Amino acid sequence: MALRGFYIGRFQPYHYGHHSVIENIAREVDEIIIAIGSAQISHTIDNPFTAGERLLMVAKSVENIDAEIYIVPLEDIYRNDLWVSHVKSMVPPFRVVYSNNPLVMRLFREEGYDVKTCPLYKREKYSGTEIRKRMLEDQEWKSLVPPPVVDVIEEIDGVARLKEISRDDK
Ligand code: NAD
Repeated sequence: MALRGFYIGRFQPYHYGHHSVIENIAREVDEIIIAIGSAQISHTIDNPFTAGERLLMVAKSVENIDAEIYIVPLEDIYRNDLWVSHVKSMVPPFRVVYSNNPLVMRLFREEGYDVKTCPLYKREKYSGTEIRKRMLEDQEWKSLVPPPVVDVIEEIDGVARLKEISRDDK
Protein backbone atom coordinates (compact mmCIF):
# COMPACT_ATOMS: atom_id res chain seq x y z
CA MET A 1 0.00 0.00 0.00
CA ALA A 2 1.37 3.44 -0.96
CA LEU A 3 2.41 5.68 1.94
CA ARG A 4 0.64 9.00 1.41
CA GLY A 5 1.64 12.28 3.11
CA PHE A 6 -0.40 15.48 3.50
CA TYR A 7 0.98 19.04 3.29
CA ILE A 8 -1.11 22.21 3.35
CA GLY A 9 -0.15 25.80 2.63
CA ARG A 10 -1.68 29.01 1.33
CA PHE A 11 1.21 29.39 -1.17
CA GLN A 12 0.79 33.18 -1.50
CA PRO A 13 2.98 32.66 -3.49
CA TYR A 14 4.61 29.19 -3.65
CA HIS A 15 8.33 29.67 -2.90
CA TYR A 16 11.60 27.77 -2.40
CA GLY A 17 10.83 27.23 1.32
CA HIS A 18 7.69 25.28 0.37
CA HIS A 19 9.63 23.54 -2.37
CA SER A 20 12.36 22.31 -0.03
CA VAL A 21 9.66 20.87 2.25
CA ILE A 22 8.12 18.98 -0.69
CA GLU A 23 11.55 17.65 -1.69
CA ASN A 24 12.05 16.36 1.86
CA ILE A 25 8.58 14.78 2.01
CA ALA A 26 9.22 13.02 -1.31
CA ARG A 27 12.14 11.18 0.31
CA GLU A 28 9.80 9.70 2.94
CA VAL A 29 6.53 8.87 1.17
CA ASP A 30 5.36 7.50 -2.21
CA GLU A 31 2.53 9.97 -2.74
CA ILE A 32 2.00 13.58 -1.58
CA ILE A 33 -1.27 15.43 -1.21
CA ILE A 34 -0.68 19.17 -1.46
CA ALA A 35 -3.70 21.13 -0.25
CA ILE A 36 -4.08 24.75 -1.34
CA GLY A 37 -5.49 26.27 1.84
CA SER A 38 -7.85 29.27 2.12
CA ALA A 39 -8.90 28.47 -1.44
CA GLN A 40 -11.83 30.89 -1.21
CA ILE A 41 -9.59 33.91 -0.56
CA SER A 42 -7.92 36.03 -3.23
CA HIS A 43 -7.37 39.68 -4.13
CA THR A 44 -6.32 40.71 -0.62
CA ILE A 45 -2.93 42.06 0.45
CA ASP A 46 -2.09 38.88 2.37
CA ASN A 47 -3.74 36.53 -0.13
CA PRO A 48 -3.49 38.09 -3.58
CA PHE A 49 -3.66 34.95 -5.73
CA THR A 50 -6.66 32.75 -6.51
CA ALA A 51 -6.77 29.01 -5.80
CA GLY A 52 -6.49 28.31 -9.52
CA GLU A 53 -3.44 30.56 -9.90
CA ARG A 54 -1.79 28.92 -6.90
CA LEU A 55 -2.62 25.49 -8.28
CA LEU A 56 -0.75 26.39 -11.49
CA MET A 57 2.25 27.68 -9.50
CA VAL A 58 2.48 24.45 -7.49
CA ALA A 59 1.71 22.03 -10.34
CA LYS A 60 4.34 23.51 -12.65
CA SER A 61 6.96 23.67 -9.86
CA VAL A 62 6.61 20.04 -8.70
CA GLU A 63 6.82 18.42 -12.14
CA ASN A 64 10.27 16.99 -11.40
CA ILE A 65 9.55 15.82 -7.85
CA ASP A 66 9.95 12.05 -7.56
CA ALA A 67 6.54 11.21 -6.07
CA GLU A 68 2.94 10.94 -7.19
CA ILE A 69 1.39 14.33 -6.36
CA TYR A 70 -2.27 15.27 -5.90
CA ILE A 71 -3.11 18.98 -5.60
CA VAL A 72 -6.43 19.83 -3.94
CA PRO A 73 -7.80 23.35 -3.31
CA LEU A 74 -9.39 23.47 0.15
CA GLU A 75 -11.67 26.18 1.52
CA ASP A 76 -11.53 27.23 5.20
CA ILE A 77 -14.47 26.29 7.41
CA TYR A 78 -13.96 28.55 10.49
CA ARG A 79 -14.72 25.62 12.84
CA ASN A 80 -11.31 24.45 13.98
CA ASP A 81 -12.70 21.49 15.94
CA LEU A 82 -14.28 20.12 12.74
CA TRP A 83 -11.49 21.08 10.33
CA VAL A 84 -9.64 17.73 10.24
CA SER A 85 -12.91 15.97 9.30
CA HIS A 86 -13.41 18.58 6.58
CA VAL A 87 -9.90 17.90 5.23
CA LYS A 88 -10.48 14.12 5.35
CA SER A 89 -13.70 14.49 3.39
CA MET A 90 -12.03 16.46 0.60
CA VAL A 91 -8.68 14.78 -0.11
CA PRO A 92 -7.37 11.24 -0.76
CA PRO A 93 -6.73 9.18 2.42
CA PHE A 94 -3.35 9.83 4.08
CA ARG A 95 -1.41 8.58 7.11
CA VAL A 96 1.15 11.25 7.89
CA VAL A 97 0.93 15.05 8.04
CA TYR A 98 3.85 17.42 7.40
CA SER A 99 3.61 20.95 8.78
CA ASN A 100 5.33 23.71 10.74
CA ASN A 101 2.07 25.59 11.30
CA PRO A 102 1.26 25.25 15.04
CA LEU A 103 -2.54 25.26 14.56
CA VAL A 104 -2.41 22.67 11.78
CA MET A 105 -0.08 20.47 13.87
CA ARG A 106 -2.28 20.77 16.96
CA LEU A 107 -5.54 19.98 15.16
CA PHE A 108 -4.15 16.86 13.45
CA ARG A 109 -2.42 15.61 16.61
CA GLU A 110 -5.67 15.94 18.57
CA GLU A 111 -7.25 13.61 15.99
CA GLY A 112 -4.46 11.05 16.42
CA TYR A 113 -2.45 11.70 13.24
CA ASP A 114 1.28 11.23 12.96
CA VAL A 115 2.49 14.85 12.45
CA LYS A 116 6.04 15.58 11.37
CA THR A 117 7.74 18.98 11.31
CA CYS A 118 9.76 20.03 8.29
CA PRO A 119 13.22 21.65 8.48
CA LEU A 120 12.88 25.40 7.99
CA TYR A 121 14.64 26.63 4.87
CA LYS A 122 15.96 30.21 5.36
CA ARG A 123 12.55 31.26 6.70
CA GLU A 124 13.43 34.98 7.01
CA LYS A 125 13.95 35.12 3.25
CA TYR A 126 11.74 32.35 1.90
CA SER A 127 8.38 33.56 3.21
CA GLY A 128 5.22 34.74 1.47
CA THR A 129 5.18 37.88 3.62
CA GLU A 130 8.72 38.81 2.54
CA ILE A 131 7.98 38.13 -1.14
CA ARG A 132 4.76 40.20 -1.15
CA LYS A 133 6.61 43.04 0.63
CA ARG A 134 9.35 42.98 -2.00
CA MET A 135 6.75 43.03 -4.79
CA LEU A 136 5.08 46.08 -3.25
CA GLU A 137 8.41 47.89 -2.82
CA ASP A 138 9.78 47.05 -6.29
CA GLN A 139 12.56 44.97 -4.77
CA GLU A 140 13.99 41.78 -6.23
CA TRP A 141 11.68 38.79 -5.52
CA LYS A 142 12.04 36.44 -8.49
CA SER A 143 15.02 34.56 -7.02
CA LEU A 144 12.84 33.47 -4.07
CA VAL A 145 10.41 31.40 -6.14
CA PRO A 146 10.82 28.62 -8.74
CA PRO A 147 10.86 29.92 -12.35
CA PRO A 148 7.34 28.59 -13.17
CA VAL A 149 5.95 30.78 -10.34
CA VAL A 150 7.51 33.85 -11.96
CA ASP A 151 5.82 32.83 -15.25
CA VAL A 152 2.39 32.48 -13.62
CA ILE A 153 2.68 35.80 -11.75
CA GLU A 154 3.75 37.57 -14.94
CA GLU A 155 0.93 35.91 -16.95
CA ILE A 156 -1.71 37.27 -14.55
CA ASP A 157 0.04 40.63 -13.97
CA GLY A 158 0.16 39.67 -10.30
CA VAL A 159 2.47 42.41 -9.03
CA ALA A 160 0.23 45.11 -10.50
CA ARG A 161 -2.77 43.43 -8.85
CA LEU A 162 -1.06 43.39 -5.47
CA LYS A 163 -0.08 47.06 -5.78
CA GLU A 164 -3.58 48.07 -6.86
CA ILE A 165 -5.41 46.28 -4.03
CA SER A 166 -3.00 47.68 -1.46
CA ARG A 167 -3.92 51.28 -2.31
CA ASP A 168 -6.59 53.16 -0.42
CA ASP A 169 -9.15 55.38 -2.14
CA LYS A 170 -7.71 58.74 -1.08
P1 NAD B 1 1.95 28.94 4.28
O1 NAD B 1 1.95 28.94 2.79
O2 NAD B 1 2.30 30.18 5.03
O3 NAD B 1 2.92 27.79 4.83
C1 NAD B 1 2.72 26.43 4.48
C2 NAD B 1 3.69 25.54 5.25
O4 NAD B 1 5.02 25.77 4.81
C3 NAD B 1 3.68 25.81 6.78
O5 NAD B 1 3.80 24.58 7.46
C4 NAD B 1 4.90 26.70 6.96
O6 NAD B 1 5.43 26.62 8.27
C5 NAD B 1 5.85 26.08 5.91
N1 NAD B 1 6.90 27.01 5.46
C6 NAD B 1 6.75 28.29 5.05
N2 NAD B 1 7.97 28.82 4.74
C7 NAD B 1 8.88 27.85 4.97
C8 NAD B 1 10.31 27.78 4.83
N3 NAD B 1 11.06 28.83 4.43
N4 NAD B 1 10.94 26.61 5.15
C9 NAD B 1 10.20 25.53 5.57
N5 NAD B 1 8.85 25.54 5.73
C10 NAD B 1 8.21 26.69 5.43
O7 NAD B 1 0.48 28.42 4.67
P2 NAD B 1 -0.29 28.29 6.08
O8 NAD B 1 -0.96 29.56 6.43
O9 NAD B 1 0.57 27.63 7.11
O10 NAD B 1 -1.44 27.28 5.60
C11 NAD B 1 -2.32 26.68 6.50
C12 NAD B 1 -3.69 26.63 5.85
O11 NAD B 1 -4.56 25.80 6.65
C13 NAD B 1 -4.36 28.02 5.77
O12 NAD B 1 -4.99 28.14 4.50
C14 NAD B 1 -5.39 27.97 6.88
O13 NAD B 1 -6.52 28.81 6.68
C15 NAD B 1 -5.77 26.49 6.82
N6 NAD B 1 -6.45 26.10 8.08
C16 NAD B 1 -7.81 26.24 8.10
C17 NAD B 1 -8.50 25.91 9.26
C18 NAD B 1 -10.00 26.09 9.25
O14 NAD B 1 -10.55 26.31 8.17
N7 NAD B 1 -10.65 25.99 10.39
C19 NAD B 1 -7.83 25.43 10.39
C20 NAD B 1 -6.43 25.29 10.30
C21 NAD B 1 -5.75 25.65 9.14
